[in-house]
Amino acid sequence: MKTESLRKLALPLALLGLAVGSFGALPGCAVETAEDGAVAQEENDQGDDHPADGLPDNFDDGLATSLDQDIDIEEGGEEVDSTAQGLVAGASCDSDAKTGEYCAGDKVSGGTRGTLYRCSGPGKATVVRKCPAGCAVNPGRDDSCKVPVAPAPACPHVDATLRFGLHPTASDRLRCAGITSARITQTIGNAAASAGTHAQDGVASGRAYSAATDLSVRGLSDAQVKKLIARLDSLGFAAFFRNPGQDGWPSSEVRHVHVVFAGARMKSSLRAQISDFLNGKNGLASHTTYRFYQPPADVKAYVRRIFDAAN
Ligand SMILES: [Zn+2]
Repeated sequence: MKTESLRKLALPLALLGLAVGSFGALPGCAVETAEDGAVAQEENDQGDDHPADGLPDNFDDGLATSLDQDIDIEEGGEEVDSTAQGLVAGASCDSDAKTGEYCAGDKVSGGTRGTLYRCSGPGKATVVRKCPAGCAVNPGRDDSCKVPVAPAPACPHVDATLRFGLHPTASDRLRCAGITSARITQTIGNAAASAGTHAQDGVASGRAYSAATDLSVRGLSDAQVKKLIARLDSLGFAAFFRNPGQDGWPSSEVRHVHVVFAGARMKSSLRAQISDFLNGKNGLASHTTYRFYQPPADVKAYVRRIFDAAN
């Protein structure tokens, strides 16, 4: 909700006196009163209103076409890759296997190299997923897919940031994802005195930045947005589709993608959003399950790694 509309509401509601207090929050407003002040700085809190992107209806920067060329996306969760499933005939957990996840060759015999399996003791091994970057044997805990090589080398550094207020590395990676300057609707936002979601997080290479960025999804279908989010996640962003009426985003709000670049030092409200992202939640004060898209575990591990390194 915009600060201005909050002010407009404040007076008439104040006149209602105790009735307001009994609601605890303004009716119809998505801002939730949280006990933790940091968490209360949710994405649509003051300082993060979402102006229309100003783009024409026929805006076309080629992003939709490029997303259509992406092969089907890999989702996390319990879904099993059907291609990998076809390869498991004969994979079995060895006599010393416990309940947990194992790479082929590590207490799993007859499996496909570079594939992660689940065992429930000795016997049948089921595929968890193929590991494009290889499978890691972890002493003392479950094996896991290796984190893909950091994508940074594939994103050449361009000295001029796409927009003022972007972290230089985030700018390079947004470019890599096919984002044009016209799609960026907010970097450092007009923060209120209490730091809002898009308030400045710091300075990198002499440039002020916010780790949070809003992107227009003009001309993109939901399916294309899903591919875009998969791209952004794999480049180290926690990306959330703010789709009106879905995943806790108010139906009155603007349809857009909100991303937080994990590889930058950031304020506590954004750390809470990264934490939500890693835990499959929506990054809003409601912290409900985010259903639109869940990246694979190795992508989450990558986001966590660059977040930990920067924060
Ligand atoms: Zn935002």
